[in-house]
Amino acid sequence: MTKSPYIPPKDWTPEQVQAKLQDLIDHVERLNDDWWDKDLKGLINVHGVFSSELARAALEKEVYRPSEIYYHAPEDVRNGLIAKLLETEDPRTAGNLMCCLAMQGDDKALETLYDLEQHPRPWREKLYVDPSVYAQCGGWTFDKAGKRRQLNFDTCYPLIKGNRTQDGAAHIFRPRKDRCPECGGRLSDFLVLDGRDKRLRFLGIDGIFTATACLGCIPWANPSYSRFTLDGGSIPIFPYEDGCEDAMEDEDVDQIGDNPYVLASQPAPLFYGADWNKVSTIGGFPFWIQDWEYTPCPDCGKPMKLVAKLSWEMLDFMEGNCYVEVCPECQVASMHHQQT
Ligand SMILES: [Zn+2]
Ligand SMILES: [Zn+2]
Repeated sequence: MTKSPYIPPKDWTPEQVQAKLQDLIDHVERLNDDWWDKDLKGLINVHGVFSSELARAALEKEVYRPSEIYYHAPEDVRNGLIAKLLETEDPRTAGNLMCCLAMQGDDKALETLYDLEQHPRPWREKLYVDPSVYAQCGGWTFDKAGKRRQLNFDTCYPLIKGNRTQDGAAHIFRPRKDRCPECGGRLSDFLVLDGRDKRLRFLGIDGIFTATACLGCIPWANPSYSRFTLDGGSIPIFPYEDGCEDAMEDEDVDQIGDNPYVLASQPAPLFYGADWNKVSTIGGFPFWIQDWEYTPCPDCGKPMKLVAKLSWEMLDFMEGNCYVEVCPECQVASMHHQQT
């Protein structure tokens, strides 16, 4: 077979999308050799294609990675995943299956994971975390009473280059005048979102969301917290767990703030930001460089909701991503950093 020339996913025609999907359905076991499959990433992340047929084929061949294949999969597939999970004795397989079930994400999936948390199987001892943390892989979790808490939003908007004087709904790394007590560098509003803009209504924030921290301290402070008010106010919470040695120069803070990124006019697929790319997204699923990580709210202790994945590389600032989260009830923002 001759290899066809590489075409970036965004340029695939509807026929090519269909052909790639069919090819994956027919050869889904290839994901067991390399689950980071470019065609699959193109289908899911760039084209937002989720296929019941692909999920059925994957289950049949016991392909459990990447778990996104099973995002909102139909009931018969969910039942199949549950049956496999209840019969396996292998901790790794159990972990993978819990992620798949988390991606499927319906009430029966919740019930199953909750039951496994209440009545742990022998494989639980070999895993680091509970089923409620595996559920987070699907963007949700449950509390001790089995009540669901959604941890991400089912809408995703990328940040793209544009003109902020014409569109001020989103602003990243806006420099502030006040300074970080840890290092003396100037603080930044990492993310400012106008929840009243019709594109951002999905956040359910009837006013301004602001997350404030120190650019220099962010990799060490992990996480940084701030409190916001709907009228645009934001106060960072100190002390940090750890700070940086050398403060960033004021000009560098200004330069990062002087970026051209604005909210795109149209939403993107939910997993658009969930790849090794220099893409920043509001809502949807992020790409976790390390394990998924939802920060507990410092006030109420509940896991916070993911608002944004911001790519440092998009700004040529440093390696990795910044994850911005919110506890809507307590009006607290958190920011944490991941890199390889
Ligand atoms: Zn600092
Ligand atoms: Zn809270």
